[in-house]
Amino acid sequence: MNTKKRARVLVAGGGGFIGGHLIKYLKKQGYEKIRAVDIKPLSEWQQLDSKVENISLDLKDKNNCIEAVKGIDEVYNLAADMGGIGFIENNKASCMLSVLINTHLLLAAKNNKVKRFFFASSACVYAADKQTETQNKGLKESDAYPAMAEDGYGWEKLFSERMCRHFAEDFGLKTRVARFHNVYGPFGDYNTGREKAPAALTRKIIAAEKTKKKEIEIWGDGEQTRSFMYIDDCVKGIDLIMHSNIKEPVNLGSEEMVSINQLVEILEKIAKITVKRKYLLNAPKGVRGRSSDNTLLRKYLSWEPSISLKRGMSKLYQWIKQVEK
Ligand code: NAD
Repeated sequence: MNTKKRARVLVAGGGGFIGGHLIKYLKKQGYEKIRAVDIKPLSEWQQLDSKVENISLDLKDKNNCIEAVKGIDEVYNLAADMGGIGFIENNKASCMLSVLINTHLLLAAKNNKVKRFFFASSACVYAADKQTETQNKGLKESDAYPAMAEDGYGWEKLFSERMCRHFAEDFGLKTRVARFHNVYGPFGDYNTGREKAPAALTRKIIAAEKTKKKEIEIWGDGEQTRSFMYIDDCVKGIDLIMHSNIKEPVNLGSEEMVSINQLVEILEKIAKITVKRKYLLNAPKGVRGRSSDNTLLRKYLSWEPSISLKRGMSKLYQWIKQVEK
């Protein structure tokens, strides 16, 4: 019998983008006992599967974490108050308050003898001075130190990573930490103020198509570089890392680095239009260059995200187009 299928799972942040996809993925893997918890009322969850146990709770609260973790074998902590660069630059305190979620979930997991604990960290933990050039050759895990993480959001992630490490060392809790690099795909925020570049640009291209204005706004000069990981690679990577023996934080991202201007070109091809670019040089733009170095991930798993940006962006485009109809 597949023991994985017997595990009782908690997906914290199950009403969000990655959480919703993870629930779908875990169900396909054969997990039958899934509890999803999110602060949002059920009516606002990105995806709601009525066959799993869905609960609306604020996981910053210690007692709510105890309730959420009761009877659970595996905790996936994807709950955080977060968004794209426009959100995290303007909500640093709120982002840092997510530390309460991870702290109380870790404590509840330790006391409840949870078997495995996954924490969703971020490329925002990486030190600013390693990301000053557009030609970034990929951030290695060691590039997080000496620390100068993204203000607010990144520091919370770095602190919570270390707390996971010490819960493993001091209490024997099996913690697993992945540093996600820009995840995108259907069912993510695209027009709430929390959206990231792939969804925001796709929305703008679709609007340009509709209005025939054929001009889009781009934050910064468009030469800043990033890598983007399609959601299917993300949830598979979470599963692999969670059930691996990797005891240190590891990158989970794509090595396909593009500039924002190149991302717009990909979208132009998908939508079969050409748009004029209007550059907003004073808008939030984040670091100059960022990509993932997957050497460690490949070494541990002989696997890495492989869905091309072209393929993933077509899926995102189709989804937003259909929702916007
Ligand atoms: P999301 O905003 O769609 O999902 C996060 C969910 O957490 C939301 O549904 C939110 O309501 C919930 N939440 C917030 N505060 C809560 C609380 N106090 N109690 C319970 N639930 C709460 O974001 P996502 O893209 O699905 O991200 C999931 C995780 O991955 C987050 O930890 C995020 O920081 C991390 N991450 C995401 C990306 C990315 O590109 N999407 C990149 C790096 C790291």
